[in-house]
Amino acid sequence: MFENILFPTDFSDVSRKALGFVKRLIEAGGKKVTLLHVIDESNLDTLSSIYTVPDYLKVEKDLHEKASKEMGFIENELKEIGYEVTTEIAKGIPLREILRVAAKEPSSIIIIGSHGKSNIQEMLLGSVSEKVIRKAKIPVLVVKR
Ligand code: ATP
Ligand code: MN
Repeated sequence: MFENILFPTDFSDVSRKALGFVKRLIEAGGKKVTLLHVIDESNLDTLSSIYTVPDYLKVEKDLHEKASKEMGFIENELKEIGYEVTTEIAKGIPLREILRVAAKEPSSIIIIGSHGKSNIQEMLLGSVSEKVIRKAKIPVLVVKR
């Protein structure tokens, strides 16, 4: 039932916890995982307003390199236990990219953390997870922090 899993990750602790459940879904027939990281456009806009162009390009390149490294680690972990894995690093609005990839693959389930990097104590859900739950057309497994 949950053959094609979409796992959007921001590499936060909560997202790491969600990875544990991605792994366990192999017991429920999981075959393929699409790993997705979105470099948030709105953060880039902020960066571009404080850095000079060359510095900004360097920061963007660093963000991309750091993300590919982290993705590589997760990809290996998943391949080791028998998953087929594809990875994507996108630049844009996290919600939009998550929905685009979910439709493209086509995925059977999305696994996300309830929170991410901000992890604000008072919030029931992060803004990305809230919007994904609202908009997704497929089941969403939300892993609580
Ligand atoms: P906020 O971003 O609203 O300040 P937050 O960082 O605590 O709050 P979210 O960003 O909603 O929470 O993160 C919830 C989950 O959404 C993460 O655990 C991760 O699975 C996914 N996610 C968040 N940001 C990204 C991203 N840039 N790329 C891929 N997945 C993401
Ligand atoms: Mn976030």
